[in-house]
Amino acid sequence: VSATELAKEALAACRSAQGALNAFTAFDEAKTMAMAKASDERLARGEGGLLEGAPLAIKDLFAVEGVSTTASSNILKGFKPPYESSVTQSWWDNGGVFLCKTSMDEFAMGSSNETSNTGPVNNPWKGAKGETLTPGGSSGGSATAVAADLCFGATGTDTGGSIRQPASFTGTVGVKGTYGRTSRWGAIAFASSLDHPGPFAKTVKDGAMLLQAMSGHDPKDSTSLPNEVPDFVAACGRSVKGLRIGVPKEYRVDGMPDEIEQAWQQGIEWLKAAGCEIVDISLPHTKYALPAYYIVAPAEASSNLARYDGMRYGNRVEGKDLTETYEKTRASGFGTEVQRRIMIGTYVLSAGYYDAYYLRALKVRTRILQDFDQAFEKVDAILTPSAPSAAFPLGSKSNDPIAMYLNDVFTVTANLAGVPAMSVPAGLDKDGLPLGLQIITKALDEETMFTVGAALE
Ligand code: GLN
Repeated sequence: VSATELAKEALAACRSAQGALNAFTAFDEAKTMAMAKASDERLARGEGGLLEGAPLAIKDLFAVEGVSTTASSNILKGFKPPYESSVTQSWWDNGGVFLCKTSMDEFAMGSSNETSNTGPVNNPWKGAKGETLTPGGSSGGSATAVAADLCFGATGTDTGGSIRQPASFTGTVGVKGTYGRTSRWGAIAFASSLDHPGPFAKTVKDGAMLLQAMSGHDPKDSTSLPNEVPDFVAACGRSVKGLRIGVPKEYRVDGMPDEIEQAWQQGIEWLKAAGCEIVDISLPHTKYALPAYYIVAPAEASSNLARYDGMRYGNRVEGKDLTETYEKTRASGFGTEVQRRIMIGTYVLSAGYYDAYYLRALKVRTRILQDFDQAFEKVDAILTPSAPSAAFPLGSKSNDPIAMYLNDVFTVTANLAGVPAMSVPAGLDKDGLPLGLQIITKALDEETMFTVGAALE
C-alpha cells in the first residue's frame, strides 16, 4: 500500500475507535495527508527513511506545529505551537507521518490516564467480567493507540514510569533510553531532570527503530547527550549467551500478585535456557526511591509550571488586577492532581523545609545511582517486573493518591538514575490481562537492553 492509502485507513480506524477508547485529543487530516503524499513522492524517488510512510501517534505533551498541544490540560486549551518538538521533527525527518495527538494524564502526572481534561482513556483490554480498565499512565492514549493496532508507533514520555507502566498494562513494548539520549526540546516539561521521551511499539525491534529515529544530539536541549547513537535495531538480533542478568531482591514487594512473581520467574528461566548467567543482586536503596521521586518530581514541576500564568499560552481568566488574573487562571486551568503537585513542590523547596525534604531526596537519588553503578559491575542487565499489578478498573484508585503513586515502585529508580529501561510483554495473568517485564541496563547501553528484550519476546 502507499503511504497515502495507509494514512487514510489509519485516520478512519482511529476515528471509528475513538468512541470506545477516547484515546485521541486532536487530528489534522490535511497535515496527515500532505505528509503521506510527500512520503509517497520520496518512495517513488527511492529515498525512503527508517520510518518512511509509518503513521505515528503523538502524546499531547509534544509540540506539533500548528496542531493543538495541551498536555491534556485546560490551562493550555487552544494552544497551537508555532514550532515542532525535536523528537517529532526527527520522526518526520525519518519519513514518519503524523497521525494524531493522544490523551495523557494532565501534564503527565499520573498512572492511569484519568486526569486528562478530555476524560479517561479506556484500555482496549477488558477485565474478566468485562470491566473497563485503565491503560495506565501517563502516556495511556499512546499505549492504547499502539495496543489497538491503530498506528505503527507512538511517542510517550517517562518521568517515573509513564512509558513502561502503560506498556505493561496494554501488552506493548515501551522504551526509554539513557537520560539525554532523546531531546526534551518542545516536549512540555514536567520534571526536567527526570523527563525521558521514548516510543511505544508492537515489537522490540520496532521499538529499537523508533528510539533510533528519535535519538541523537540536539543543541536546543542543554542536557542532550553528544554521544553517537548506536545501531539499536542490530542489537535486537544478537545472542544473549553469556550475558549476566541481575535479579534484585528488593523488587520482591509485599502484596505483589503471585502471577507477577511467576512471570518474572518465567523470564529468568528463559534467559537461563538461552545461556545467560543469573545473578542475585541487591539495590539496597530501592525502598527510598518512591518517596524521593515524589519530592524531586513535584519540586521540579512546581518550578516548570510557574510559566502558565495566562499571559503567554492557552487559557486566561481575567481578574480585577494581574495577581487575581494569575490566581483565577491557575485555579481554573489546573486540575486537582496538578495543584497537589505544585503545592508539594513549593513546600519541599521552601526555605524552612528545603534541607529536610528536597536536599535529602537528592542524597537518596545519589545513593540509587550508586546502587546501580555497583550492580552493573557484576551484571550486564537487570530484570524486574514493570509494574506491581496488571491493569486496574477505571476509578478504582483515582481517589487515593498514595495507591496511585505505588504503581511506580519498580519504574522510578531508572529515572532517578537516568539509566535505560524498557518494558516487554510477558504473557497474560489468569484474567487474560497482559503483564510486563522490565529490563534495565547501564547508561548508554541501550544495545544490551534491546538484545535482552528481543530474547524475551
Ligand atoms: N506516575 C508518575 C507520576 O505521576 C510518573 C509519571 C510520568 O512518568 N510522567 O509522577
